Amino acid sequence: MNKKEFLSRIYITLIGWSNYLKVRKFPRFFLHNRASKIILLLLFGSIFFNQIYTRSQFFMPKEYKLVKKIFNTISLNNNLGERPVSIIIRAGEDMHYLMKDVGICKEKQNYCGYFVNLDPFKKFRGFRSRDVNYAIRQSYLHGHANASASPTGTIVINRATFKVLEGMETFLAAAVAHEMFHVMQFAPFEASLKTLKVSKEYPKKTDEEIDEIFLNEDQMLEAEADLGATLMLFYADYPKETFVEAMEYFHKQAGIIHTKGQSKRHPDYITRINLIKAFINDKSFFKEELMNASAPLRWEYNRRGNWLKFYPSQIQK
Ligand SMILES: [Zn+2]
Repeated sequence: MNKKEFLSRIYITLIGWSNYLKVRKFPRFFLHNRASKIILLLLFGSIFFNQIYTRSQFFMPKEYKLVKKIFNTISLNNNLGERPVSIIIRAGEDMHYLMKDVGICKEKQNYCGYFVNLDPFKKFRGFRSRDVNYAIRQSYLHGHANASASPTGTIVINRATFKVLEGMETFLAAAVAHEMFHVMQFAPFEASLKTLKVSKEYPKKTDEEIDEIFLNEDQMLEAEADLGATLMLFYADYPKETFVEAMEYFHKQAGIIHTKGQSKRHPDYITRINLIKAFINDKSFFKEELMNASAPLRWEYNRRGNWLKFYPSQIQK
C-alpha cells in the first residue's frame, strides 16, 4: 500500500467512525449501556460533590463559621464600607520561629511569611512536608491569639486564636472589629502620608527622627482603631465594656508587655486601657440606629483558596 492509499484508507475509516458515532447516537450508546450509566453518574456526582465541598459554607471549618456569625451581627448596625473584605485563617506567627528551628528559614533578618501564611486546614505537600506539617500542628497548639489587617481589604487570623479564645466569642468579636476598623482607615497609608508631609516640611530631619514620627502616627491610628472597635461592638448590641475586657485578656495571654519591642507598634497597655475606659465613660459615648448599615452581608467561601469573603449590601454584583 503506498502512502496515498494509506492516507485515504485512514480518511475513510474516520468518516466511517464519525458516521457511527453521530452526535445523536453517542448519548444513546452511553445511556443504553449500564456500566456507562454508572461511570457517568459517578463522574458527574464527584464533580458536583467537589464543587459543593469546595464552596459550600455548610462544610467550612468551624472557625470560619464563627467569624461569619460575628460579622453578620456587627453588620446589623454598622457601616463596614463599600468594598469586599476577605478573611483568611492562617497557620500563624509561631511558624516563623518554628521554621527557623528546623532550619528551613535560614536568613536571620528574613520573616518567614510564606510559612506563617500557610493554610492550616490542609496538609502541606512541598519541601520537607513532614517537618512543616508538624510545625503547623505546634503553631496551633502553642500559638497566641492574634490577627492583623491589610489595606488591601484582608483580615488574617492565626488559627491558634480560636483555641486561646475558645468559649469567648465576644473577645473574638473585639479582635475582628479592631482589624475591620484598620481595613476602613487604610492604616499605614494615613500615618505614612502625615510623616511624608513632615519630612517635606523639615528636610533636615534624620531617618531616625522620621521613623519616630511614623511610629507615633501609627500608634495614633492604633488608638483610633481601639475606640472605633469599641463603638462598633456597642452599636451591634455587645455590652459597652466588651472591648476593654477583651484588650485586658489579649495582653494577659500575650504575657510580656513591658518591653519596648512589645509596645512599639501599639500604645503601651496602660495607655491603651485608659484611653478606652475614658471613651466609654464619656457622655458622648452613645448608640444610634444606622440607616446605612451593611447587613445583609453576602458571603463567598473557597476551601481551595482558604478564604471567606463578604460583600456589604451596598455593593451590587
Ligand atoms: Zn491594630
